Amino acid sequence: MSRNDTRQRSVLRPPSDINPNSDAALDFSDRSWSVMTEADYAELGFMAGLEVHQQLATATKLFCRCPSGTFTKDCDAEVLRHMRPTLSELGEYDGTALMEFKTRKEIVYRLHRGTVCTYEIDDTPPFEINEEAVRVAIEVSELFDLNLVNELHVMRKQYLDGSIPAGFQRSAMIGLAGSIPFRVPELGIDRRLNIRQLSLEEDSCREVSDRGHRVTFRTDRLGIPLTEVVTEPEFLSPLELQAGARLLAQTTRCCPQVRRGPGAARQDVNVSIAGGRRVEIKGVSHHRGLPRLVHIEAFRQLNLLRIRQELIRRGVNANALEVGDGGSAWEKSALVLDASSLVSGCDFQPLRDSLDDGGRVAAVRLPGFGGLLTHRTQPGVTFAAEIADRVRVIACLTSRPFFVHSDIIGYGLHSQEWQQVRKALRASKGDTVVLVWGPTRDVDTAAREVLLRAQDALAGVPSETRQSFPNGTTGFERILPGANRMYPDTDTPPLALPESWHERIRAHLPERPWETENRYVERGLALPAARRLALAPWSRLFEEFEITDAAVARAVESALQKRLPRWLRGADATTLPDAARLQPWVDAIAEGSLRPEAIEVALDRLLVEPRLTPEDLLNSLLPHDGDEQALQSMVKRCIEQAPTLRRRNEESVLRWAMGEVMPRLLGRIDPSQVRQQLRAALADQLEEVQS
Ligand SMILES: [Zn+2]
Repeated sequence: MSRNDTRQRSVLRPPSDINPNSDAALDFSDRSWSVMTEADYAELGFMAGLEVHQQLATATKLFCRCPSGTFTKDCDAEVLRHMRPTLSELGEYDGTALMEFKTRKEIVYRLHRGTVCTYEIDDTPPFEINEEAVRVAIEVSELFDLNLVNELHVMRKQYLDGSIPAGFQRSAMIGLAGSIPFRVPELGIDRRLNIRQLSLEEDSCREVSDRGHRVTFRTDRLGIPLTEVVTEPEFLSPLELQAGARLLAQTTRCCPQVRRGPGAARQDVNVSIAGGRRVEIKGVSHHRGLPRLVHIEAFRQLNLLRIRQELIRRGVNANALEVGDGGSAWEKSALVLDASSLVSGCDFQPLRDSLDDGGRVAAVRLPGFGGLLTHRTQPGVTFAAEIADRVRVIACLTSRPFFVHSDIIGYGLHSQEWQQVRKALRASKGDTVVLVWGPTRDVDTAAREVLLRAQDALAGVPSETRQSFPNGTTGFERILPGANRMYPDTDTPPLALPESWHERIRAHLPERPWETENRYVERGLALPAARRLALAPWSRLFEEFEITDAAVARAVESALQKRLPRWLRGADATTLPDAARLQPWVDAIAEGSLRPEAIEVALDRLLVEPRLTPEDLLNSLLPHDGDEQALQSMVKRCIEQAPTLRRRNEESVLRWAMGEVMPRLLGRIDPSQVRQQLRAALADQLEEVQS
């Protein structure tokens, strides 16, 4: 396949949402991620992919001439909007669209005159696309070895959560179908990582608050150009995924024109297991928490599949959970009851407060769900919380709690009150009853959503986007957008990308992480050390040294790796030591004049004693005339003190004596010689004492 002949159409193919392996490992017991092996994840059918968003450091935004990267909390004006779903080009409502419509949100945009114009709030059409951003995006595509498009076509990607006022994000495909080397020796990985595509997109608003039916956004970030790199879902374990995320970030950051700092790079993770469905976890900002996060998601899916299996075994039928339209849920379904008067005497405070505020209480019967709502799906999270979470987001209920269920005995209502509600709903022993309360209209939405989520339980794992929490668990965010989410933008003409742009960018392409690693390997480092160095902030220092020999390269890398992290933490972390000052140290290693045990100490002293010249400092660590004599007198002094240490065993006395003598003679005498002399002297003295 030539670089440019892949047709753009193929990228519109939606990624498959269902894990290709339908055989769920239901017997696999829950366990913590620290004891899981690669084989365990293979048994679960674990699969994950990444979407990495990186803001570009351009002067202006992508489709207008507002400054990019000027952030402020100041606000000159507010705009209020309501979202309405529009039919997609194919004449269908998207699942997400319907969900957002159900939430009936008021959306408030906080505007600051220095950071937005009328484009961002969808009052004027877009300007021409920012060519600087296009060039940077081409460079990032080249870094990933993607096939570049000849012509850029702007598409609209539906965004109905309010984070983009227009209701869609403008997005343009730049490159697709490429791969980069993926080598992680410590995980035994040595293959290529396939990249599905790279798009140039505009960033969305930042959420300020979301409470009840009102969500507030700040618009300064809106419209900043960013690249989105999407991998194929080829990561087969959480640690692989973490390594992949690091590689993607590292590769993207080779491009000098990407923004750095908090919020500049964000990633979404797609996860599924056998029998499960793709779930997207949004906005993960750190690589460190990734493995536990996706591990927990894998077991959440497994537990949802167990619930599904049990429901099927009990003969629960999804169709029986349908609620008709055209009236409130309690009018349309025998499974729902307006329980307001039935529980009017209840003394459960949250429910009481809601009734006193004129709220309503709905009781929902879940036939055959008895006992399942307390089934654990994540650490500290039950299936009931999965239901409540989605109900809270969609019905915008704000009181806490707003939901109790009969699987927890004696909570919320007294058992007699539960009995009355169950009787009114004709609930049998195997059924669960859920109570939700709040404003009437929200309670109607909530009761319907409880039944919808219960229907989804029969499918197993619903396709959702979820937000991550610091403890590694996730919460419902929204229904995963469907395939009809993209359609052509009629406001922007196609832009031909001339071959001359590509050529110029290719000619000045920065070195990529694996290329740097290869260069270090050629200089004599083992691959793990080369990878470590390529990632290290002191790689530039290493590069500035004059090193001619592989053994010296290894010694220098190892010493830097051991000593610089601590030094950088203590010092101003943005400054590296001066390479010229350290070069005599490298030379001394190369000449063999610096003994191996003195290499790191010499580096330490050069770093912390800037007033000493490197020559004087190194000189104090090299052999001198009279070192032998100094050793003999020190040994003598130690032995004189040794009788006071008689009660300790010989080895510990020796260790103590080494600690006394070695620092003073470091670099000057072979430690084995010191040890030998001390041992002999100690033995002599012991004989003396015994005789
Ligand atoms: Zn603007």
